[in-house]
Amino acid sequence: MATAQSSKINLLNFDQKQLGNYFKSIGQQSFRASQVMKWIYHFGIEDFAQMSNLSKSLREYLLEHCEIKVPKVAIDRLSSDGTRKFLLRLDCDNCIETVFIPEGERGTLCISSQIGCALNCTFCSTAQQGFNRNLTVGEIVGQVYLADKLLRADQEDKEHRPITNVVLMGMGEPLLNFDNVVPAMNVMLDDFGFGISKYRLTLSTSGVVPNINKLAEVSDVALAISLHATNDELRTEIVPINKKYPIKMLIEACENYFKDQPRRHVTIEYVMLKDVNDQPKHAKQLVKILQNLKSKVNLIPFNPFPNTLYECSDWETIKQFQSTLKAAGIQTMVRKTRGQDIDAACGQLAGEFFDRTKRSQKLQAIPITRE
Ligand code: SAH
Repeated sequence: MATAQSSKINLLNFDQKQLGNYFKSIGQQSFRASQVMKWIYHFGIEDFAQMSNLSKSLREYLLEHCEIKVPKVAIDRLSSDGTRKFLLRLDCDNCIETVFIPEGERGTLCISSQIGCALNCTFCSTAQQGFNRNLTVGEIVGQVYLADKLLRADQEDKEHRPITNVVLMGMGEPLLNFDNVVPAMNVMLDDFGFGISKYRLTLSTSGVVPNINKLAEVSDVALAISLHATNDELRTEIVPINKKYPIKMLIEACENYFKDQPRRHVTIEYVMLKDVNDQPKHAKQLVKILQNLKSKVNLIPFNPFPNTLYECSDWETIKQFQSTLKAAGIQTMVRKTRGQDIDAACGQLAGEFFDRTKRSQKLQAIPITRE
């Protein structure tokens, strides 16, 4: 039976339009949505009683029927390079990971969209834990809300927003949680929310082609594609969703995504796996695949995790691969590995969770550093 607590409506589950509709449904005007969002996302106020521009009766109504429910911090770890990893515990006692990566003026928050992942990419540690469930809108927004609040609490200028960029590159496949990811991104983009620019909010997908097309109809956030292979045989092996949506189809969807904004480009992510996808012939194939697509390439050094069969390509091989792409006029960066000492690097997320579920008795012993 649901408790009184759990039957409350979590306002983090709504974007502005949905929140406006909620207010209309309780006989209020829809502009209350922007007022309440400002309290939550600009001022970090979770107590309705403090929302002083709402009528007393509305405040009382909200206290009784609504809540602002934020995931709990189970672990909050700082890397020697400044990367900060939050292991967040959800209602269901599952954990997800959120990582903050500072670099000069830029502060990137890498967030999760699902608990686990169903896609089974062979080089990704999240795949090892299988798929549990989609995150709710509130759980996706809650990651940004919480990280923003904790990071701000630690800095002198409390007004300064440390998170300038958000990437959906944590656990899960965002396009397989489309209906929750889109409103959550709306809150991130909204000036009454986090006010992140569409150029600084990136959705990363392994290539759920129909949903790339669907996304193009409702959003124009930055798009990153986890390509990782240059022919269908290899890609189907390491990114199995390729069997359903092969490379040609994927690249066409990418060409279509920014067709109304010709100056924008898609980011191609390519993890460097020693002797698997890193040979000169692969670089040449990649040049060919990308010839008609406005794109930039990120080469990602493979981050190993326990029991993986792969190794990272040698530095020389990575530089050679980069040179071939650059010589063909493709802007190509090698991504720096960050947060490795705290298992926060790309593709390492959820390793800890995986271990802990096996030792579920010990879950109680995880120190809650902050609540
Ligand atoms: N499902 C989405 C988002 C999560 S993965 C996607 O596939 O894009 C985010 C990025 O991390 C992807 O490019 C993914 O391929 C990469 N990645 C996964 N495991 C990795 C590893 N072990 N080392 C380096 N990058 C990895």
